[in-house]
Amino acid sequence: MMTTLPTTAQLTERARTALERCGASGFEAPAPTGQSARTPITGEPLFDIAYSTSAETDQAIGTAQETFRTVWRDTPAPQRGNLVRRLGELLREHKDDLADLVTIEAGKIRSEAAGEVQEMIDICDFALGLSRQLYGRTMPSERPGHRLMETWHPLGVVGIITAFNFPVAVWSWNTAVALVCGNTIVWKPSELSPLTALACHGLLMRACQDVGAPMGVHQVVLGEREVGARLVDDPRVALLSATGSVRMGQQVGPRVAARMGRCLLELGGNNAAVIAPSADLDLAVRGTVFAAAGTAGQRCTTLRRVIVHEDIADQLTDRIVGAYGQLRPRIGDPFDDDTLVGPLIAERAHTALHGALERAAADGGRVLTGGERCLEKEAPDAYYVEPAVVRMPSQSEIVCEETFAPILYVLTYRTLDEAIELHNGVTQGLSSAIFTQDQREAERFLAASDCGIVNVNIGTSGAEIGGAFGGEKDTGGGRESGSDAWRAYMRRATNTVNYSDELPLAQGVNFL
Ligand code: NAD
Repeated sequence: MMTTLPTTAQLTERARTALERCGASGFEAPAPTGQSARTPITGEPLFDIAYSTSAETDQAIGTAQETFRTVWRDTPAPQRGNLVRRLGELLREHKDDLADLVTIEAGKIRSEAAGEVQEMIDICDFALGLSRQLYGRTMPSERPGHRLMETWHPLGVVGIITAFNFPVAVWSWNTAVALVCGNTIVWKPSELSPLTALACHGLLMRACQDVGAPMGVHQVVLGEREVGARLVDDPRVALLSATGSVRMGQQVGPRVAARMGRCLLELGGNNAAVIAPSADLDLAVRGTVFAAAGTAGQRCTTLRRVIVHEDIADQLTDRIVGAYGQLRPRIGDPFDDDTLVGPLIAERAHTALHGALERAAADGGRVLTGGERCLEKEAPDAYYVEPAVVRMPSQSEIVCEETFAPILYVLTYRTLDEAIELHNGVTQGLSSAIFTQDQREAERFLAASDCGIVNVNIGTSGAEIGGAFGGEKDTGGGRESGSDAWRAYMRRATNTVNYSDELPLAQGVNFL
């Protein structure tokens, strides 16, 4: 590892510059609060920020609701699209600034951070087009002189709670679509990425000014889960879109349901790839290594299990272990163009990785490579690790859990049925893949995988915005981003219009 890490002072300076360029202001707390923005690159605090009080959160929801009622819901959708168009332009202009902040706060390597901002730009383009395509259907009425149709209407205030690992893209999937659908927004970002949130808010406020949209359409509230819980419990929040761990979804979902609110849950995954004997192994190895070790194993779609046919298991694992050897010298400063693996988000991720490796060993697992901490001397408070590959004799309890760190478990199978059973034998259902050149196998897997995302000959991570994103089972069932995911942000009304001078009842009922 040749990398020299930047100092916290350098990162602080860089973060301040990016924030100012994005038009974020007043972010530093005037007096020490003990609530710091931090960077996983050095593991140290950048500067103190102020968390939102309950009165401020209450006011943010109130402002969003007022703006919805008085202006935004009645603004024509193509005009609402104009705001998102302007946001997309500003994101293009400030791509580097936002990518800097994503790298500083989430520890993503530069190209992945820039890719995340590109996703924001893409969803703005998508949402702009969508603003002219919020189609409802018309259906033939069974009654003469009647028209039957569906119309779509905004919901109101959308609460967005996001996770640390996609600090800006997930916000933009929700925000760009929710705004063109006519909703206003209150965002509670992860407590680990408040600065990227302030920068996004700054850019959106500039977009509002530039196109004459009301600034009340978007509010940010900062803090830990207690602040999120206020959005969860407030009946003025019509839709709560929450991204994070399954544990978080299990707490949040029932509470929103209890007040008859709507919930859109995007929760943890435990993603697997089946690698069949006919697979192109070059593709399979590259797809596996990026999906498993990229983002230091901290994507919801990270590949956590490889289910490989026993005839090619040794060959494949040797090649994966060889490729992991090439990663080893490229772990370090995520700003360095040569780096492929940045830091874990915090100590708790490292503790989870170690605990998981110990449990895997107790279940008969053999660590083939990785798991060691690096750069400890250079940055004692940061957690850099070598991505690990573990050969497992069976799918034990630990393999069925999502450990949010770079551990790839290798399991073997004999028949495709067995592979599918192993694949679906976890509680999560986000992303899945098969590597095969056998069309029958591919088609069988496409139908049999119980995940929201099912790929052939590409890895589990790196989705495009054009499709609906989300997963089944404990992953929560929500869909965001492209396709018809916009429907979650609107309510449907079925309308019957009688333009005759009779009043025939449906189903031929006679009454008076
Ligand atoms: P987390 O669950 O710890 O926190 C996520 C967010 O929820 C944070 O903003 C947090 O403050 C808030 N929160 C937590 N408990 C809450 C509660 N009871 N009430 C209200 N708010 C609460 O997750 P994390 O560590 O930030 O992110 C990693 C997890 O997120 C992984 O499990 C990953 O798979 C998942 N994730 C899923 C997707 C997806 O689209 N399916 C995307 C990104 C991350």
